[in-house]
Amino acid sequence: MKITVFGIGYVGLVQAAVLAEVGHDVMCIDVDESKVSNLKSGIIPIYEPGLTPLVQQNYASGRLQFTTDAKAGVEHGELLFIAVGTPPDEDGSADLKYVLAVAETVATHMQSHKIVINKSTVPVGTADKVKAKLSATLTQLGKTDTFDVVSNPEFLKEGAAVNDCMRPDRIILGTDNPKAESKLRELYAPFNRNHDKVIAMDIRSAELTKYAANCMLATKISFMNEIANLAELFGADVENVRRGIGSDPRIGYQFIYPGCGYGGSCFPKDVQALIRSADGVGYAARVLEAVEAVNYAQKEKLFEYIMRHFDGDIRGKTVALWGLSFKPNTDDMREAPSRVLLEKLWVAGVTVQAYDPEAMEETQRIYGSRDDLKLMGTKESALAGADFLVICTEWQAFRAPDFELIKQSLSEPVVFDGRNLYEPQRMLEYGLHYYAIGRGLSV
Ligand code: NAD
Repeated sequence: MKITVFGIGYVGLVQAAVLAEVGHDVMCIDVDESKVSNLKSGIIPIYEPGLTPLVQQNYASGRLQFTTDAKAGVEHGELLFIAVGTPPDEDGSADLKYVLAVAETVATHMQSHKIVINKSTVPVGTADKVKAKLSATLTQLGKTDTFDVVSNPEFLKEGAAVNDCMRPDRIILGTDNPKAESKLRELYAPFNRNHDKVIAMDIRSAELTKYAANCMLATKISFMNEIANLAELFGADVENVRRGIGSDPRIGYQFIYPGCGYGGSCFPKDVQALIRSADGVGYAARVLEAVEAVNYAQKEKLFEYIMRHFDGDIRGKTVALWGLSFKPNTDDMREAPSRVLLEKLWVAGVTVQAYDPEAMEETQRIYGSRDDLKLMGTKESALAGADFLVICTEWQAFRAPDFELIKQSLSEPVVFDGRNLYEPQRMLEYGLHYYAIGRGLSV
């Protein structure tokens, strides 16, 4: 099938590459010229496991094209995906200007019936706004072309995006038109062989499903962080509590890890956007407000431990920081807990020697060159000459480090672990003070 994808970010690029891989003819459109020219030269703008060969092979085969030419894109696809960003507006609600700009572009250039499929995460009622924008633009131009608008939210996880798109848990199709549904079922048939993963529903429910999913996951994290904070005050170990509750199949072990807060481009923004949408219909989303407040406080936790340990006297110290990305297997730094810590440490006069397997270029791009940020080539070199160690991201490479080396390298044998990677007893045996989340303040 001929497909066009507007927006070549995490969602658009991965989805486009996966659709091309199964044989569809995919054209990707982005307004970012450098992104498009880099992709044409085989330079992939994001780190995502398995993505580089997938994009390069499908580009070489001609099934995947990149251009800034929106007119060519509208002409190319019978199915037009919108996968542009929906960043938070000033008040936290989702900013739809990019989504509506694509709708206007589509209406301007379309010459035949098009199915417009929204993959961006958008508030309930956005499909109506997209329809209105398409209709208004067509009328303005005196055109009589017809269209369908479908909601098809994306559930990929950064760090596992290719696999998630190749083997989706579910394919949500929100449409009121059986013909459009049937076209999309055909499009997704290659991903739907094992069992039927399509869940078709009305458009508004599809739009809300995406927010409900992300807000539920964010709620699990904030709930567990609240229990961790209580465990700390009660002298309990949240890791025992986690295993204890996870054994109940109604709760399960998934996604109940305490830590230094959730980040990324989705959870913080989607929780906020649903709170704002709820406001708009006169409902106070109190659970979600609490989820957000707990997360905000949790991102300050590591800094609090550090200040407590050093009695507030940290000016002039050097910290080794392991992990910058908001989670492992991505270079994405959006809303990363590491950023809250970095910025607080700098204000307090601390120099940071940081290492991350993938996110250092992005860190450099965000913060530029500064004397109090040194990006190091390895986790070991980040330790050299540092006073203490902090861990913000649970990369596999940090799970079994050389504890002797950590002890020898640091001027103070103290580790602040925002991801509960190590056993407190083992750290004690190595002679390291160990602060983790919800496991007792220090051993
Ligand atoms: P992104 O910021 O990585 O990419 C968006 C791209 O859209 C950018 O390259 C931008 O230049 C391009 N763009 C903006 N306006 C355009 C236009 N008029 N025409 C063509 N391109 C345009 O965003 P993302 O992370 O891929 O997220 C996209 C949407 O998908 C968001 O709504 C997000 O909430 C949702 N989502 C993201 C993820 C994720 O893990 N990143 C997962 C599921 C859903």
